[in-house]
Amino acid sequence: MYDFTIIGGGIVGLSVGKALLERFPNAKVLLLEKEKTLASHQTGHNSGVIHSGIYYKPGSFKAQFARKGSQSMTEFCQRYNIEHDICGKVIVATKEEELPLLDNLFDRGLQNGLNIKKIDSDRLKEIEPHVKGLGAIHVPMAGIVNYKQVSEAFATIIKENGGEVKVFEEVTNIKETNDGVFIDTNNATYQTNMLINCAGLHSDRIARMTGYATDTKIVPFRGEYFKLKPEKRGLVKNLIYPVPNPNFPFLGVHFTRMIGGEVDAGPNAVLSFKREGYRKTDFNIKDFAEVMSYGGFWKLASKYMKEGLDEMARSFSKKRFVESLQELIPEITEDDLVPAPAGVRAQALKADGSLVDDFHIIKGKKSIHVCNAPSPAATASIEIGKYVVNQIPEQTHLREASVGGF
Ligand SMILES: Cc1cc2nc3c(=O)[nH]c(=O)nc-3n(C[C@H](O)[C@H](O)[C@H](O)COP(=O)(O)OP(=O)(O)OC[C@H]3O[C@@H](n4cnc5c(N)ncnc54)[C@H](O)[C@@H]3O)c2cc1C
Repeated sequence: MYDFTIIGGGIVGLSVGKALLERFPNAKVLLLEKEKTLASHQTGHNSGVIHSGIYYKPGSFKAQFARKGSQSMTEFCQRYNIEHDICGKVIVATKEEELPLLDNLFDRGLQNGLNIKKIDSDRLKEIEPHVKGLGAIHVPMAGIVNYKQVSEAFATIIKENGGEVKVFEEVTNIKETNDGVFIDTNNATYQTNMLINCAGLHSDRIARMTGYATDTKIVPFRGEYFKLKPEKRGLVKNLIYPVPNPNFPFLGVHFTRMIGGEVDAGPNAVLSFKREGYRKTDFNIKDFAEVMSYGGFWKLASKYMKEGLDEMARSFSKKRFVESLQELIPEITEDDLVPAPAGVRAQALKADGSLVDDFHIIKGKKSIHVCNAPSPAATASIEIGKYVVNQIPEQTHLREASVGGF
């Protein structure tokens, strides 16, 4: 019998595991991951940016956890010698009509307590010589890291402190009873006092398996990338972002210097016909049918028809993709870019067609479900882990640590 069992070995599940052992040092903690390696899905396919928290609605979980989380992530990387770089980023307005949106974003950043600066095109040229913009925001506290490495460090901490991390364990059925939660996997049945669902792209299914009909469904959005050819990496010094569409939860195609030195361009956002579908041709009938039969999807599709079609066009035409990138760096050409691996975002969608903007965590009788943890959840993972663990009531049979943390 375990005290706590986590489903999902992405950065959120692993952070929850670490936070559990920080609070309850003698607890029996188990983490189940269906893949052969940890961080195989969203966590291992992201842009690797430590977000500052500028974009998010003041007071939201995203705003609070990104701001605090970027600091705790940086401290964690320093403590555990994980390569990272607080290199700063620029958010660039390239058209007149984007200037008021840039102003709004700047105000939002100030409301979120960030020390950011508005800069003119001359200063922008000093920071990013190849970018052409009318004005920009400089966000010095943004940075880069490899979240797979962070996840591995979380897993090591869990194991060194007595927790178990099991891979190749796909959860297939769950029964929540007064005596605990029974979790069936492809290999065994595990009994636990409490279940924590951090299953990312499958989190809604795990919640339903446990008996909680959430009012949302996960819709997978693939984000496709290109990489700059090595001889063209000099076009980008650090992180270059456009002004995002305020009605859309995605940030627009941007340039990201990765911690290994490569430069990624992307991601776009297209509906994926498979929850873990990384190629355009990937298709899963169950995943596809679930989206197509969901009223919320059709309401969303009709509201964002133009944006959706634009994204599709960018997906099928490199020329269109590059045209978006040229708005930021005019001298970039199709020839400078080669295709790079895609990622798939788990985005919760409500039945009324609205996207769940904030992190969304629900509590069951003997379970907690992280139902929406899109970007910046990697940045915010340490804070999400702490928050989830703080939702757990006192466990009379378990000792609680008074101070400290890993
Ligand atoms: C393209 C892209 C770019 C992004 N860029 C950034 C960024 O720059 N900065 C940032 O902060 N965030 C970014 N994000 C968001 C961030 O990557 C995610 O929010 C974060 O990784 C979510 O972590 P997770 O642990 O919830 O999910 P995941 O990493 O998806 O982990 C969930 C795990 O659950 C496992 N699982 C699912 N079902 C089962 C089951 N039945 N049994 C057992 N295991 C199961 C899966 O195999 C998976 O390993 C980006 C995301 C994407 C896709």
